Amino acid sequence: MDVRRQIEVSGIVQGVGFRPYVYRLATGRHLRGTIRNTSAGVTIEIQGPAETVQDFVEHLPAEAPPLARITNVAVHDVPCVAEQVGDVQDFCIVHSREGEEVRTLISPDVAICPDCLREMFDPKDRRYRYPFINCTNCGPRFTIIRDIPYDRPSTSMAMFPMCPACLAEYENPLDRRFHAQPNACWTCGPGVELWDKSGKRIGCRDAIAEAVSGLDTGLVVAVKGLGGFHLAVDATNPAAVALLRQRKRRVEKPFAVMVPDLQAAREICELDGALATVLQSIQRPIVLVPKRTPSAIPDSVAPCNRYLGIFLPYTPLHYLLLAEGGFKALVMTSGNLSEEPIAIDNREAVQRLGGLADYFLVHNRDILLRCDDSVVRVAGGIPRQLRRSRGFVPVPVFLKDDQPSVLAVGGELKNTICLTKGKHAFLSQHVGDLENVESYSFFHEAIQHLERILQIRPEIIAYDLHPNYFSTKWALQQSGAKLVGVQHHHAHIASCMAENHLEGRVIGFALDGTGYGTDGNIWGGEVLIAGYEDFERAAHFEYVPLPGGEAAIREPGRMAVSYLAHHFGREFLRLSIPFVRQLDMAKTELLLRMVERKVNSPLTSSCGRLFDAVAALIGIRQEVNYEAQAAIELEMAILPSEEETAYPLNLLPQGDQWIIGTRPLFEALLDDLGRNLPAGSISRRFHNGLVEGVVQLATLLRNKTDLHRVCLSGGTFHNVYLSQRLEAHLSEAGFEVFTQKEVPPGDGGLSLGQALVAAAKLRA
Ligand SMILES: [Zn+2]
Ligand SMILES: [Zn+2]
Ligand SMILES: [Zn+2]
Repeated sequence: MDVRRQIEVSGIVQGVGFRPYVYRLATGRHLRGTIRNTSAGVTIEIQGPAETVQDFVEHLPAEAPPLARITNVAVHDVPCVAEQVGDVQDFCIVHSREGEEVRTLISPDVAICPDCLREMFDPKDRRYRYPFINCTNCGPRFTIIRDIPYDRPSTSMAMFPMCPACLAEYENPLDRRFHAQPNACWTCGPGVELWDKSGKRIGCRDAIAEAVSGLDTGLVVAVKGLGGFHLAVDATNPAAVALLRQRKRRVEKPFAVMVPDLQAAREICELDGALATVLQSIQRPIVLVPKRTPSAIPDSVAPCNRYLGIFLPYTPLHYLLLAEGGFKALVMTSGNLSEEPIAIDNREAVQRLGGLADYFLVHNRDILLRCDDSVVRVAGGIPRQLRRSRGFVPVPVFLKDDQPSVLAVGGELKNTICLTKGKHAFLSQHVGDLENVESYSFFHEAIQHLERILQIRPEIIAYDLHPNYFSTKWALQQSGAKLVGVQHHHAHIASCMAENHLEGRVIGFALDGTGYGTDGNIWGGEVLIAGYEDFERAAHFEYVPLPGGEAAIREPGRMAVSYLAHHFGREFLRLSIPFVRQLDMAKTELLLRMVERKVNSPLTSSCGRLFDAVAALIGIRQEVNYEAQAAIELEMAILPSEEETAYPLNLLPQGDQWIIGTRPLFEALLDDLGRNLPAGSISRRFHNGLVEGVVQLATLLRNKTDLHRVCLSGGTFHNVYLSQRLEAHLSEAGFEVFTQKEVPPGDGGLSLGQALVAAAKLRA
């Protein structure tokens, strides 16, 4: 007996080849019915024998096209429609109803698909070697959208009218390019050119081949990608890498490396199955993978780091460049000067990068919104975001409950913003460090653009409590929305709760560098009993002075002096350890006086600064060239071993709180230094000590509160050794442990937590 079902599918199901897919699924089973786009997704009506219809419903989500992301499937019985002559076995794609508000989700930019890749390298295909080949399963989306609905006229493809051949594909429901908005070919689409550093076009037959010869001779080539320009050099050429470092004023911060395929990746890195899967995913993030040493990649690409950030090509142009040059690896770093936003416009690129690049491989498909590469690491077989940007934005983080419309403006460093609507939290791409003027204007752009394409008018604006953050200052100037300040570490814990769909209260460990505290001090080693609406500060690392404020962040050596003076007074100057022997006595005297007289020495409980102090003390680094460098190198110093020794911390009750005392840790560490224990072992014992301290504290708090759920967040959890060991030990102790995967644990994930806290505060 025949049945008819109405199926409503929501999620990312428009502009991703979903209707042709359903068409094939239905006609392949000789089912009748219709499919149309709706405001929330697509609605399918399907009719036929009950068993076949059931089979259709079951297969529907399982075999969906790669870019589709189904969030809900609702199936209802509807009365059968009588067979009409002529459409006995018809299934048709019908037009959407006029005037329906578009609420469907926008797809992110994704890597070229295997079909397009095959066509591009097929000499018989009409798009042979065409650098902008794409289809509904691949290519640009988010970065070429000017406005919604997502149709060609509201994208940067508007200036390229389709040729008859492309148009025929575009209009054919059975074609892979049915409604592929960026569809193009040699005849009608964008093209590439090679420019010199003054922006003059270089006359040549093949711009890509010319760019390759530049790279071959060790030059720097700026390459226009999907979300912005990259600066490229041959990664196996140490002189080229040095040239790029010098020009980009990037002394030691690791460069990302693009490799042509998995085999090339295996030659320079240790890949396991999980890493290979993430590398090949359509989002093509930069993945941190263990280096193979020695390898063809000089150490200067990622100095003092056991990991290398590698990624596979994701645009057709990348594939052509790598294939033409036969490169084993290219450094592909953001096209910017130090921490400024990535350049996207051709002229802007020449202006800003003219002193950095020798050539510009440009094209005339405009990037409307910059979007840096995403960075992930894999821990416990699960990919975890370190920088959530291209490939993931604007896919929302799916929330448990409906939220009001909130704009959360994030923090100061690694800024992202977040907009909520219903059960969706839309985090922006990586905006960067707002202290740069350019980043600050990008911050405005990102807010305006996201509000427009997502059609969200925020009722509430959430901001960090730090009065000097640019994002905070901006928020406080806005009118027309309720303004809610959110404590930094509360936001970190709420961010972790939100992506894990938690409610109620949790024990939250927020460990990071810097966040404004409610007592005016600089927080950063915080243990909170928190729900969305509020928190209690249950414990924190012992306060120490931060001599010189910001200067102490750039010079970890200052933190070592501060900790030693704090615990041992001037007695520490008699210690017979290399750190003390190498101190510049005049400078140290100045620091000590600053601390003793409490001049320009704010108090901090920062976990990041504790890492800095230890790194400096054991000789790893006295000054840093990029954020968190000392902490990263301290982690990298740990050598594989089974050693379980842990430096002790003491937990001192103070009122309702516990203070996490670090004196016994430093005593044990100094003992080991006196015995010339290698830095790798000391680092390990230090990490192990933190893990034990956290587990002890969590146990105390469980006894006191009956809570057994622990959330871990804050930039310190970018540290793989610490996160993995802590998760394992907490689980062993019977805790339910929640960590961040979808959004970064660092300040890149802050805005998500701010949004939920602000909404909860206004509800309370
Ligand atoms: Zn494709
Ligand atoms: Zn064409
Ligand atoms: Zn933070």
